[in-house]
Amino acid sequence: MIDSKKLNSFLSQPRRIVLTSHRGPDGDALGSTLGLSKVLKSLGHETYIILPDGFPDFISWMPGAEEVVLFSENKTRAIELLDSAELLFALDYNSPSRIGDVEPHFVASNAYKIMIDHHINPMDFCDEYLSKPEISSTSQLVYGFLESMGWEEHLSVDGMECLYAGIVTDTGSFRFRSVDVGTHRVASIFMEKGMNNAKVHQLLFDNTDASRLRLLGYCLNEKMEIFQENQTAFISLTQDELNRFNCSKGDTDGFVNYALSLKGIILAVYFVEQNGLVKLSTRSIGNLAVNRVCSELFNGGGHMNAAGGTFEGSMEDAKSFFKERVFDNLDHYFNK
Ligand code: 5GP
Ligand code: MN
Repeated sequence: MIDSKKLNSFLSQPRRIVLTSHRGPDGDALGSTLGLSKVLKSLGHETYIILPDGFPDFISWMPGAEEVVLFSENKTRAIELLDSAELLFALDYNSPSRIGDVEPHFVASNAYKIMIDHHINPMDFCDEYLSKPEISSTSQLVYGFLESMGWEEHLSVDGMECLYAGIVTDTGSFRFRSVDVGTHRVASIFMEKGMNNAKVHQLLFDNTDASRLRLLGYCLNEKMEIFQENQTAFISLTQDELNRFNCSKGDTDGFVNYALSLKGIILAVYFVEQNGLVKLSTRSIGNLAVNRVCSELFNGGGHMNAAGGTFEGSMEDAKSFFKERVFDNLDHYFNK
């Protein structure tokens, strides 16, 4: 738990604060950093957000997204900000390896470091931790943190939209098992305070490029493999295919859920070529722990029902390896 007295006293004078989140930022990464950053700004602090690399178009409408400093595009500025920060936040990641090239600068910084995250087994790399793997999203956790600090009245409607978008994207629109009464409580508070929930859903999901939908059609028609006897379905895409549809990796967020929605399927895997590696996104239903699949076999991790990792080799080898090591060993990955 974060010592709110100590933090409030540290923040009794204006501070220079940098908020960071993971590589391949998703809605929760961007939403939680923006939401918290806005509150800290309104408390009189100088705040900056540094993300390792770019985020997908469908979340780029979030108020303040244009101010985010991408390490991949603006290294000098990012390093300067990290070096001069007095307080660093690590949001939505549990290990410094998740921030790619930002890692050495985060680790070397003398700033006070606070982690707020919902992934299991956090590494020891910050001074204080708010780590709750049972909570749906870092954005939900950030709202709880604001309340515990007595700062919730400083959250603007813009900030609510960011946190709400983080919650919506990390819960499959309030569908996943991670949703609890607290998730709906936060949504209800935001609505009471004037946030337009329908607007956020529309900005997230009714704003799709034709190229992305055509790529989805192609994936479902031609690139989905169903292994009914193993209750598993794959979708895979090469870099060439992504290029052909004028799409990048972020555009395919959520495709894996279509494979999981198939009748009788409890394990879905999306394989995509990225930087010479194959990146895996895995999703499951029930007690099948895909975070163990990813940590034991693919140098990754995540949550029980949503995890990711990487494979060094070709797409075909990645799929064969997955079949070989997981299909006949599915029992091993069920949490009792
Ligand atoms: P996604 O499949 O959407 O990329 O990620 C699903 C979940 O798995 C996210 O919570 C994410 O943090 C986690 N995850 C994805 N890729 C990796 C990875 O390479 N390493 C670890 N440790 N976690 C990952
Ligand atoms: Mn998250």
